[in-house]
Amino acid sequence: FFRLNHEACTQFVGEMSMGDKFIFQKYTLGDPLGKGNFGIVREGIVKETQMPVAVKIIDNVKMVGHSGTTDSTRILSEFHLMKQLDHPNIVKVFDGVPGSKSTYIVMELVRGGELFDIVSRNRLPEQHARHFFRQMLSAVLYMHQHEIVHRDLKPENIMLSGPFDLGVYPPTACVKITDFGVSRVVGKGTFIGTLCGTPEYFAPEMFGQVRKCTKALDMWSLGVILFIMLGGYPPFTSDTDARTRQPHLMQQITHGMYSFPDAYWKDISRDAINLIMRLMTVDPSKRITATEAAVHPWIVAGAGDGTTFS
Ligand code: ADP
Ligand code: MG
Repeated sequence: FFRLNHEACTQFVGEMSMGDKFIFQKYTLGDPLGKGNFGIVREGIVKETQMPVAVKIIDNVKMVGHSGTTDSTRILSEFHLMKQLDHPNIVKVFDGVPGSKSTYIVMELVRGGELFDIVSRNRLPEQHARHFFRQMLSAVLYMHQHEIVHRDLKPENIMLSGPFDLGVYPPTACVKITDFGVSRVVGKGTFIGTLCGTPEYFAPEMFGQVRKCTKALDMWSLGVILFIMLGGYPPFTSDTDARTRQPHLMQQITHGMYSFPDAYWKDISRDAINLIMRLMTVDPSKRITATEAAVHPWIVAGAGDGTTFS
């Protein structure tokens, strides 16, 4: 911890708040596990029990720039939302602590890396994709039943609990959803202000004037993720190469301009393609819900793998 926090400590010697002290007293911080827009996540150990954890260190200044708030309860909303959730495919949270320069979120350590690392190298065989997708859907159904919208589902925020081997079925690793940084509780008046995140995963209605925070947003993202897992490439891209005359990303998304060319999709089942189309339905009021998706034929066909929907 001394080595890794050296830079930080020298920057604000004498400025450590109670929160910073609490974190450094209780945990030993180790190597970085990953990085996002607002945070860096490091490995950690609970000193007293030697239990390994993951510690997300959010830069308060960046967060203020994003949400316009210095209010630590707003910055900690990620912690408070995660605290309400107890599901095998959602990362568990242990501590949420405001510090002087950073906010710390202490979570369950997930060791298998991001789903992103796998899908950026391989397309998944349909049965593997279904195995992981059923776990994601089970987690999203559970969040939605708790009136929580994740809002940033993408392969970078979906972790695997252990190593993944394409040749092994069923996979020994399971999915763990992380990063509730822009998540919200649904309800009246939950409007989305500034657009942040990765536009490739934005639902069509996010480009509209009035952006309401709805469960349908997550269902669209699940569609994009399933497309990527099965197709091996993203449905929408922002490379606006003049030669390919590809329309602007926003236009591709708002018009639902994706297709299933035979070169990539001829061996994929009709049911899988149908589910992608039901998820990636431009009109959010017609888009499939998590409850409906749980009884979709492609999902039901994977029953008996230990994942349940309730
Ligand atoms: P941001 O809000 O900045 O995107 P994330 O919460 O997504 O931050 O964390 C950044 C990265 O850290 C993730 O993409 C992932 O690689 C890694 N990570 C997040 N949570 C965990 C965890 N519980 N265990 C292991 N690695 C994690
Ligand atoms: Mg992230």
